[in-house]
Amino acid sequence: MDYVSTRGSASPISSKKAILKGIAEDKGLYVPSTFPFLGPGPIPGPDVQYATRAVRILQAFLTDYTAAELSMACKAAYAENFDSPFTAPVRFLEGDTAVLELWHGPTLAFKDMALQLMPHLLSFALQAEPERYEVVILVATSGDTGKAALEGFANVAGVRLFVFYPHEGVSEIQRLQMVTQRGANVGVCAVKGNFDDAQFGVKRIFSDSDIHKTLTAHKFRLSSANSINWGRLAPQIVYYFPAYEEMAKAGKIHPGQPVNICVPTGNFGNILAAYYAMRCGLPVSRLICASNLNKVLTDFIHTGVYDRRREFYKTESPSMDILISSNLERLLFELAGRKAGVLLEWMENLAAQGWYALSSTAREQLQFLFYGGFADSGETLQTIKGVFEKQGYLMDTHTAVGYNVLQKYREETGDSTPALLASTASPFKFSRAVLKALGRDTSGKDEFLFLNELSMISGQPVPAKLAELKSLPEIHKCVWEKQGMEKALYEFLFSALS
Ligand SMILES: *Cc1c(COP(=O)(O)O)cnc(C)c1O
Repeated sequence: MDYVSTRGSASPISSKKAILKGIAEDKGLYVPSTFPFLGPGPIPGPDVQYATRAVRILQAFLTDYTAAELSMACKAAYAENFDSPFTAPVRFLEGDTAVLELWHGPTLAFKDMALQLMPHLLSFALQAEPERYEVVILVATSGDTGKAALEGFANVAGVRLFVFYPHEGVSEIQRLQMVTQRGANVGVCAVKGNFDDAQFGVKRIFSDSDIHKTLTAHKFRLSSANSINWGRLAPQIVYYFPAYEEMAKAGKIHPGQPVNICVPTGNFGNILAAYYAMRCGLPVSRLICASNLNKVLTDFIHTGVYDRRREFYKTESPSMDILISSNLERLLFELAGRKAGVLLEWMENLAAQGWYALSSTAREQLQFLFYGGFADSGETLQTIKGVFEKQGYLMDTHTAVGYNVLQKYREETGDSTPALLASTASPFKFSRAVLKALGRDTSGKDEFLFLNELSMISGQPVPAKLAELKSLPEIHKCVWEKQGMEKALYEFLFSALS
């Protein structure tokens, strides 16, 4: 299968090329040229692994990978690095709500579902290149993506990863997660500045032609692992199929019966993957897009107008604090009837004036497929407390936004279709906010004490990957001025070369 650019002027390419390139040269995003029909798979026996189920879905999209490559990649990604034998287990709560736990990977958030697999896909794509070179992935992180990339790319052949994070701009747990990372091919560096400075520095490195020449001379090519890369999106289409099959297996639905899917959303990657699953024949009735106070998507779904000219809020669900959801472009491409010209006009308006409006047909289609809602901070914390007290199930702040919006949807519409809720992080990853929700005093204590307290309240052990941080050596000590980020990169690449 070929991949086409949403902006229409780049030529179609294979999935390996799309994963190597990330973004098309016309600045568009790569989308599959057609949607293969997959439908839900058979109800699996007890021995069928997630990795096997993933291959069934991926081979329909990644047609230039061999079955052996996909099978090796999925086994390496999903078998041992997850703390659940199901990889992404489904839990059943009251009121026809199934919760898909996407956070059993090494960094305890759903980014692992993609970032554990993508490095292997990239590595096979590199082997298919006529020329030999190494890929250098640069990441600027506000905390979570950096660690997920480090875990995914550590010791993957042909790839090096360098992560920049804002010095004093991440939580102590997040800092420790990154600076204790092992792996000869990965580096981490603090930048004296905030996240925007780090992000800006990375963009500058990407566009600097001298740096480009130096790296090319050493057979390096820069690339990025952010969520618009097809290699991050494809693995996310996968998990909705096994989740549906588990709902059927548990007798919660009849095979073929439609479900609603609710996703706590930031960059629109995870919910777009659910939409793609639906386009491939997964029986889905409505997609419920849940936002926090940064509710640009809620307003978009209600009005058909995307307007990013608004205040930015820092919330208890920081991974959803986003005003420009980059993956939305892929949905817009479908709403525009795959006409790049229509999409371009919207994107130009967004760049020039900060907003755009859909046509009435596109808006109606959007509203037919999607429901949008949001939860503020009080509602989010109240939801965590309520669900824990009534059902004994502990959620993190992002998942709680989703749960809250799902309930609002049900009340507003009376639609009682069984629902699947994507749970995107372990409650331990956001233990301060979760403890606050449960009414505990969280002023000024050290984060490891929060972990223990949450463990006592919930009766669940502190995840090993967080508990061990206290005793791991800090390997990555470099701190650079924001003007010197390329020097940090050179030091990493060229001192490691010898
Ligand atoms: C990244 C992230 C999200 C948002 O996912 P998108 O694909 O960007 O919409 C939600 N919750 C958590 C915990 C995340 O890390």
